[in-house]
Amino acid sequence: MKCTAIILAAGQGKRMKSNVQKQFLQLGEYPVLYYSLKAFQDSPEITDIVLVCGKTEINYCKDAFVQKYHIDKVSEVVAGGKERYESVYQGLCACHKTDYVLIHDGARPMVSEDILERCFQDAQKYNACVAAVPVKDTIKIADENVVSTPDRSHVWNVQTPQIFEYHLIKEAYEKALMHDSSRITDDAMVVEDYGNHEVWLYEGSYKNIKITTPEDLEIGEIFARETYDKKK
Ligand code: C5P
Repeated sequence: MKCTAIILAAGQGKRMKSNVQKQFLQLGEYPVLYYSLKAFQDSPEITDIVLVCGKTEINYCKDAFVQKYHIDKVSEVVAGGKERYESVYQGLCACHKTDYVLIHDGARPMVSEDILERCFQDAQKYNACVAAVPVKDTIKIADENVVSTPDRSHVWNVQTPQIFEYHLIKEAYEKALMHDSSRITDDAMVVEDYGNHEVWLYEGSYKNIKITTPEDLEIGEIFARETYDKKK
């Protein structure tokens, strides 16, 4: 069984308010993007990696990550698009004959062996699986005023990795791109709306944070050091 990991690193990271994109910022010993590249390089289930980055950062990514850290499973480094879903689609088009595709935010450095084990185990059973954790806060749906309060026991924080049978996600994306795509913020949504297939939630981790705002870097640094110290 062949499984390609698509790692997304083409975002501008405006919410970080930094000149350097968040995926290239230093987090403990290494840059943010290194951690997930290394996790997939070391995972026996991953056959190859497609890295999606900004058009002007292709050579930088090849030098500063692929070559520097010997991430030799990287088969393609391709340019992403303006929005995340456009970057995902570019990644899907760059995959070479694969059975499964695992889509991961390069801004989530703390993807662990445990998460990957649960992900691969469930993928074979359900074909469309998404990492998630129960929300800790109460969520409100609001415009200027509160509209409703969903029952917290049914609300989940969705993360990546999201894993799919390749043709299922590729065809769902192709249909979605023919409609209004601006709403798409994760890949499961595309399968929910256009894939005619159930999406299964598997257990993610509260440590699997997405580095988005400056305070995430502070927390991420603690988690990154913990992981690094364990491996020393
Ligand atoms: O913007 P957001 O935090 O949702 O980004 C999640 C991931 O998607 C990040 O790793 C980011 O680099 C990536 N992304 C991308 N192309 C975009 C926007 C985001 O690859 N146009």
